[in-house]
Amino acid sequence: MENIKISKNCDAFIYNDLEIYTTNVFLIEKKSKIFLIDTFCGSDSMMPIKEIIKHKNNNKEVIVINTHFHWDHVWGNSSFKENTIIGHEQCGELLDKYWEEQLKKNEKYISGNVEKYLPNVTFKENINFINEGIEIFYSPGHTVDSISIFDHDEKILYAGDNLEKPIIHVENNDIETYIKTFKKYLDYKPKKITASHTLNLSEEDIYQAIEYLNDLKNGKKIEFETEHMRKIHMENCNLIHGIL
Ligand SMILES: [Zn+2]
Repeated sequence: MENIKISKNCDAFIYNDLEIYTTNVFLIEKKSKIFLIDTFCGSDSMMPIKEIIKHKNNNKEVIVINTHFHWDHVWGNSSFKENTIIGHEQCGELLDKYWEEQLKKNEKYISGNVEKYLPNVTFKENINFINEGIEIFYSPGHTVDSISIFDHDEKILYAGDNLEKPIIHVENNDIETYIKTFKKYLDYKPKKITASHTLNLSEEDIYQAIEYLNDLKNGKKIEFETEHMRKIHMENCNLIHGIL
């Protein structure tokens, strides 16, 4: 795990445990609260972060956010049972429904203890921590329960799995809504955009992702540079158009 600063108040923890991509967990320290975005793969992966929080020794409340219900974003939740864990209302339902299935399929990635622990504060549209400059908002796309975080002080957008390079994973078939989420992202005029599997993104990447979603919807034939991109695109096509 590598720890880098992406802004004056935000650390990114970059995990290399999954073969196909790196996974980022973010720790944002604000005036009176610390926000932790996602909990990766279990108690061991959260240990260094808990240490860092402890050493800050500033008694700030730690608020955990689950960007969506996928296993690689939530398995460390049980390390934060005493804390507020925020997720979309559908995140709790989906996580509950698919907990065992996700665990079975991906058990080789378990890091330490993994215990079922769902978000304990849920919302429908958004939650604003006005004094902290943090807005958490519903942003369906990659999945139906995806949420994003905007730091209004730093103008940083945390997009979860909605954005990813070189290609996005579409795991919910409502493409129109996904495009609407991307347009909403642009309205925030972010100075910096970061996501759970890609650290540095730009507005241009959002425009390209919109174009990709339109092409996907229209069944346009697209050429890709790599086998990985072709594979993900096939999976996206299967979800939208059925097995080809
Ligand atoms: Zn995901």
